[in-house]
Amino acid sequence: MGTGVRLIVLGKQGAGKGTQCVRLSHRYAIPHISTGDMLRAAVRNQTELGQIAGPLMDAGSLLGDDLIMSIVSERLSEPDAATRGFILDGVPRTVVQAELLEEKIGVDGIDCVINLDVPTEDVLQRLVSRRVCDDCGAIYSTNQPPAVNWTCDNCGGQVVQRKDDTAEAIMKRLAAYEAETLPLVDFYSQRGKLVTIDGSQNADAVFDATVAAIKAATRRS
Ligand code: ADP
Repeated sequence: MGTGVRLIVLGKQGAGKGTQCVRLSHRYAIPHISTGDMLRAAVRNQTELGQIAGPLMDAGSLLGDDLIMSIVSERLSEPDAATRGFILDGVPRTVVQAELLEEKIGVDGIDCVINLDVPTEDVLQRLVSRRVCDDCGAIYSTNQPPAVNWTCDNCGGQVVQRKDDTAEAIMKRLAAYEAETLPLVDFYSQRGKLVTIDGSQNADAVFDATVAAIKAATRRS
């Protein structure tokens, strides 16, 4: 692996992972590897993967660990991630995925795991008002819509409600987070990699706290 910063961002649905990851990827000039975004692109492009993933995603169910990790493993081997570093968003989200990742890159293949902590009642509020760009994934809300007529400020794509942001799918995804992903807090804590950040602060404060945590973890500016 290369010498750049290598991060995992954990947090419930709606904790602000996507927003922070985009900012972090600019700050450190590293690719933002989001399994959700990769899978949504596969669904849009009607690939074989998209055909498998679409119905599971709409229902709020997880895809198989081996399938997910083979996609991620391939992505991590591309030159940008292999030389500059990366941010993993939405993966690993089970202990099996974390173990498979560790097999590939080693315990020290990750510099820091950021755990964005937000109370469930707050994320529920954020998820019901969340809107996303269908093309680039930019995140808006009914309180902060794009400037013009629900078209994306970045790319002009259509800004819509995600198909899995229905009450039923949200509850299912949050339950899966609790059962499958929360154990990763202990997993990475035991490896001395975990930093928990209060994700209920405003986005700028979360970003500053995250950058400070990464600086401490990597001892570089
Ligand atoms: P969220 O975290 O809000 O549920 P994501 O955009 O990260 O949304 O993922 C959307 C969907 O894609 C998930 O509900 C799941 O079906 C699938 N998915 C994404 N990442 C993974 C993963 N690491 N393991 C299994 N399924 C995944």
